[in-house]
Amino acid sequence: MTPTPLVIIGAGPAGAATALTLSYLGIPSVLIDKAIFPRDKICGDAISGKVPTLLNRLDPAIMDRFRQRFRPSDVWGIRFYPPSNKLIELPFKIGYERIPDEAPGYVSKRIDFDAFLIEEVRRRSDIDLQLNTEIVATTRTQAGYRIQAKDGREWEANLLIDGSGAHSKFSRHEAGQEVDKDHHAAAVRQYYRGVTGFHPDNFIELHFLDAYNPGYFWIFPLPNGEANVGLGMRSDIVKKRGLNLRKELPNIVASGAFRERFAHAEPMGPITGYGLPLGSKERTLSGDHYLLTGDAGHLIDPLTGEGIGNAVYSGFIAAELAEKCLAQQRFDAAFLAAYDVRIERVLRTELRLSYRLQQIMQYKWITNLLTGIVAANPKVIEVLCRMYTDFELRKQLVRPTFWWKLFRTKTGKLPAAAEKGR
Ligand SMILES: Cc1cc2nc3c(=O)[nH]c(=O)nc-3n(C[C@H](O)[C@H](O)[C@H](O)COP(=O)(O)OP(=O)(O)OC[C@H]3O[C@@H](n4cnc5c(N)ncnc54)[C@H](O)[C@@H]3O)c2cc1C
Repeated sequence: MTPTPLVIIGAGPAGAATALTLSYLGIPSVLIDKAIFPRDKICGDAISGKVPTLLNRLDPAIMDRFRQRFRPSDVWGIRFYPPSNKLIELPFKIGYERIPDEAPGYVSKRIDFDAFLIEEVRRRSDIDLQLNTEIVATTRTQAGYRIQAKDGREWEANLLIDGSGAHSKFSRHEAGQEVDKDHHAAAVRQYYRGVTGFHPDNFIELHFLDAYNPGYFWIFPLPNGEANVGLGMRSDIVKKRGLNLRKELPNIVASGAFRERFAHAEPMGPITGYGLPLGSKERTLSGDHYLLTGDAGHLIDPLTGEGIGNAVYSGFIAAELAEKCLAQQRFDAAFLAAYDVRIERVLRTELRLSYRLQQIMQYKWITNLLTGIVAANPKVIEVLCRMYTDFELRKQLVRPTFWWKLFRTKTGKLPAAAEKGR
């Protein structure tokens, strides 16, 4: 058995970000994954602005290497199609100038992005990377956890950081974080070549279709004329309606609204599906000698399905706390509760807001009414764009008074709260 203070299970975005952050803090760790990279991960492949922002904090050269090596699609906004199908285009930045190296978001196949993170891990000599190593048991010991691999190897850790994703056994059985279908989504995706009609600046597309509400059909532009096409819905509703998303996806693609755009498109592989543990339920993500990061901590945005950014963010927070644990030799639940305090401050408020919006959007008439107001007023679109980076302003979205004032504003003048933020 190898005694080592910090062991991270899972080398996806959460685990890799934890190990990288620790390394940049000068702290060694063991990073274990059952896969050999490059490996695929079923995903929409949209990388939000949180990821470049956080990686730039470690070293701006990281994102430079990523862009040079994989040439991801640089994404400058969102095309939002409400059930009324009234298109709303929301750029991430008002009056942006398209400089790919400064894009606010990217689309890159996970097989590339995750392999890239592993390449970054390999550049760091203090990360002991163990791939092709499946962890099959974790047992509490006096010092922390004994972590056992299928091949018989063992590690003894003071702090176990779980980044082993949506199917984490540790999260479920040891930390007691059961899957709750009301706070979980199911999603399928398929790669296509030859889809037409994209925004010239690679806006990602969210189509909120009547029959799949709450949930959405997406088309995300990948490099080389490829696209990630998918459908996601809350699991309780999928079950209630007896839907099979794998069967629904081709129906949507072949339907009137999309027939033209897919007329010359061909699928590049099978339809694959995976679960999304949503962050809409309050959970405790720390305990004696452990922290849960990324999907293992159920941190996916319940409105957008975005989980990569929160996985990376939680990895950063875990690493920064681990530094303090080592300095004070404290790995007990009371000390590690600081993790939940920071998750609350940095991620939970945003997750709560997204959950409220997800609930509001279950009412088709409200969504159509609100998006009608937005579509009729370019100044409102400007405010919504600012909401992307201004969280205080974004909170207005769930306030009926905000929308009422907009509704009554015939002149295009904005409500005071929005004007203040200008
Ligand atoms: C269909 C779909 C579409 C999505 N679209 C988007 C999107 O467009 N944008 C976005 O931001 N998010 C999206 N998400 C969410 C996103 O994929 C996840 O939030 C993200 O992958 C979480 O990262 P993670 O590191 O926590 O987990 P993962 O990426 O799942 O990584 C976990 C790692 O742990 C390893 N592992 C698991 N068990 C063990 C074990 N026992 N021993 C050793 N290693 C183990 C796995 O091999 C894996 O490498 C989507 C999810 C789905 C299902």
